[in-house]
Amino acid sequence: MRQIHSLTNPVIKSLRALHERKRRKAEGLFLAEGTRIVTEAFDLGWSPQHFVFLEGREDDTMVKRLIRQADDQGADVISVSEAVLSKLSRKDNPQMVLASFAEKWAEPSTAFAAQKGCWLVLDRVRDPGNLGTILRTADAVAAEGVLLVGECCDAFSVEAVRASMGALFNIPMAQMTEAAFIDAARDYKGAILGTALPASVDYREAEWQEPMMLMMGNEQAGLTPALMAAATGLIRMPMLGRSDSLNLAVATGVALYEYHRHIGRGQSGN
Ligand code: SAM
Repeated sequence: MRQIHSLTNPVIKSLRALHERKRRKAEGLFLAEGTRIVTEAFDLGWSPQHFVFLEGREDDTMVKRLIRQADDQGADVISVSEAVLSKLSRKDNPQMVLASFAEKWAEPSTAFAAQKGCWLVLDRVRDPGNLGTILRTADAVAAEGVLLVGECCDAFSVEAVRASMGALFNIPMAQMTEAAFIDAARDYKGAILGTALPASVDYREAEWQEPMMLMMGNEQAGLTPALMAAATGLIRMPMLGRSDSLNLAVATGVALYEYHRHIGRGQSGN
């Protein structure tokens, strides 16, 4: 364990740089903040590269446990001042702990080989807050995973990790191009339900089954015509007022809970 107070320390500089996508991809690392999210990561078997905590908090029960776990896993354990921690988290009231982890991606073929459940497919999702919220909802209904298609925002950005509330540590994520998705979809044995405003089938009347994929479109443009053509069915949620569409994360929540109502694999939750 070591103490760092300087913002010019090379480790602190490299951790601060993980707020930039370019640096995250170059290092293959991302940041997660807060005792709750970091505990979730550790409990799910993710090993941190660095574990940073606010000096003076080493005797707090949660922080103490995390320090011990991080140390056991060979992480670089660092105590820092509040000033350094707020620069690392870019917040005035930073959380007490922060950790860096290596990115993990599942093979996209896993999604097409699944024999049960639902993989969520996101077409060019742009807003990291939406993506994190969607990961949290996908986790809530025990979806098999989330497949990012085309140019998406970074699932490992600080904003997406925060919005996922740690769900990103529990749900497999894969990524592929639209062309590769359409190619693989030809041999897929399950259903591919796309959500789209022009669809004529009400989401409550859809043929929910498993295995399946649920496709959600980009925030501005919706699903591409090619992805709509790759779907085995298109569904819509009724819009009764003057708004023409639901927010992407809200639409995903509505559709995923309808999937859960029909399939749900006997899980009632609490
Ligand atoms: N202007 C876009 C369009 O024409 O599709 C709106 C996109 S909407 C904000 C983002 C995504 O949420 C859509 O691509 C679709 O997947 C889903 N969505 C939102 N409202 C929906 C609805 N009423 N029925 C079906 N899908 C919906």
